[in-house]
Amino acid sequence: MTDFHTLGLSSSVLEVLEKLGFERPTDIQTKAIPILLQEDPTDFIGLAQTGTGKTAAFGLPLIDLIDTSDTAVQALVMSPTRELSQQTAKQLIDFTSNNKALNVEVVYGGANIVTQIKALKKTTQIVVATPGRLIDLIKRKAISLENVQYVVLDEADEMLNMGFKEDIDDILSYTPQDRVTWLFSATMPSEIRRIVKKYMQHPKEVSINAREKSNKDITHQYVMTKSSNKLAALRRFLDIQPDMRGIMFCRTKRETQQISDELTEKGYGAEALHGDLSQGQRDAVMKRFKSRSMQLLIATDVAARGIDVNDLTHVFHHTLPDQLESYTHRSGRTGRAGNKGISLVFINPRESRRISELEGKIKVKFERVEVPTKEALTSIRVQNWANLIQNTTVDAQADILASEVEKQFAGLSKEDLIKRLITTQLDHLSTQASEPADLNEKHGSSNTQSNGNMLRYFINVGMMDGLTKGDLIHFLSDVSGVERTLFGEVTMQKSYSFFEVDKSQASGMANNFDDIEIQGRSIRVNRDDSGGGSKRSQHQSHGRKKDKRQKPRQQFSRSRRGRR
Ligand code: AMP
Repeated sequence: MTDFHTLGLSSSVLEVLEKLGFERPTDIQTKAIPILLQEDPTDFIGLAQTGTGKTAAFGLPLIDLIDTSDTAVQALVMSPTRELSQQTAKQLIDFTSNNKALNVEVVYGGANIVTQIKALKKTTQIVVATPGRLIDLIKRKAISLENVQYVVLDEADEMLNMGFKEDIDDILSYTPQDRVTWLFSATMPSEIRRIVKKYMQHPKEVSINAREKSNKDITHQYVMTKSSNKLAALRRFLDIQPDMRGIMFCRTKRETQQISDELTEKGYGAEALHGDLSQGQRDAVMKRFKSRSMQLLIATDVAARGIDVNDLTHVFHHTLPDQLESYTHRSGRTGRAGNKGISLVFINPRESRRISELEGKIKVKFERVEVPTKEALTSIRVQNWANLIQNTTVDAQADILASEVEKQFAGLSKEDLIKRLITTQLDHLSTQASEPADLNEKHGSSNTQSNGNMLRYFINVGMMDGLTKGDLIHFLSDVSGVERTLFGEVTMQKSYSFFEVDKSQASGMANNFDDIEIQGRSIRVNRDDSGGGSKRSQHQSHGRKKDKRQKPRQQFSRSRRGRR
């Protein structure tokens, strides 16, 4: 495995990396650093997004290439947003911590320009800047770019999306002809190709592999639910993982505000971040988010650009972005700095085709997951409640009071007592009665195998029986004699599952299971023709009395797996 020592970096930079705990270079660093450090300077294109370590990929070579005996600005890093420019400058400053002669300054809009002008009067060899503010500073003659040898266009696609094309043209005209240009971008739309053609000569191009580009630490998932149920579905995910922290992306400012208002009203820690907020308000929201006083940020794509929080567990997509490329930027907010993350898309059945489009475009596989059912939520709450009881330190007063009720319970078994205790808590432990039990929509034109040739069935076997989806298909196939390949989508819940089977094989499917048991429990299979409907009807129907006579019972055991 490559280590930093083989890339050509100076011992001074290697020392800092060790202090910062950077042990191994990332893919983009391994590929870019030797090229950027080569003796004959070259233009360069790096296809990589935030979270892949691209800042160090250009920052470390820059630090080694700057001549610290020269006090002029020698490197310019252009960055689309204030947040990203601050984040980049912070990393560069960290990398130069043992080199006092090398100075980095950051300038961006929305902050006091006079303070920035003063700061630029000090020796500054590397400037990180947002385009608009840099133009202002050039016009005011507060900065000279005539000695710039290295220009980095960071997140070039984002800069173009934000309308900085003319500003970039303008800024580059103030830099020397013989400077080198390093361009980093997550995507390569044609406008970027035009920039490359206009400003770069024979650039060396490096792309990190497709899987890594969309970050291997991110798991991509989707749930299919009606648009009107998306928020209720989100709440269930928040309930099931109270320690998650993330961003929910929406398309409009209005949506972000509505969703955050509704979540706040229901007691969740959520706030909106959108372009109608002043810079001060945005800073305050971000401060609360970073200090963990809230769990979820509800943001538009534009407002979320450059957010530098490294420990988000989730990115949610209330709606997919119009430009599928933006999906990569959104999901890159999680799975950062070696942490794992989940990017979860809420789609309605009409939008489901876009998941396959996305899979083709960004070369990742999406996993379909289920919105937790009411039963699953109740079960988790019971578990949390049980954990709370188990971890409670007994109070001295309770010690005394216990003897008073102990006699009363003398005739009850432990099991009975637990059941009665749970019953007293049920109202509290159950979820909102007014919501549908199941928020999942079954059909859509996605990559699932659901289609008109399949029939769907309910079976009272679930994850608590210790089976995986594969086990369940083996079992279904063994019992029914239907080829495994003729089964379609299987969705498993704790105590029950749904499965699809090809219509041509469905005749008598339910009856096949009449005499089957799993660990002493009778198996029931029913056609699910509820159209995604309520669990209650399924439970009622599978609660009917079973005729247990005739055929000898078969005993399912997992050893039956692999028989076919
Ligand atoms: P970036 O993609 O440049 O925004 O980097 C994302 C995060 O990863 C930053 O917090 C970096 O400090 C961190 N990072 C970058 N390269 C490495 C590395 N080789 N080892 C450990 N952390 C890194």
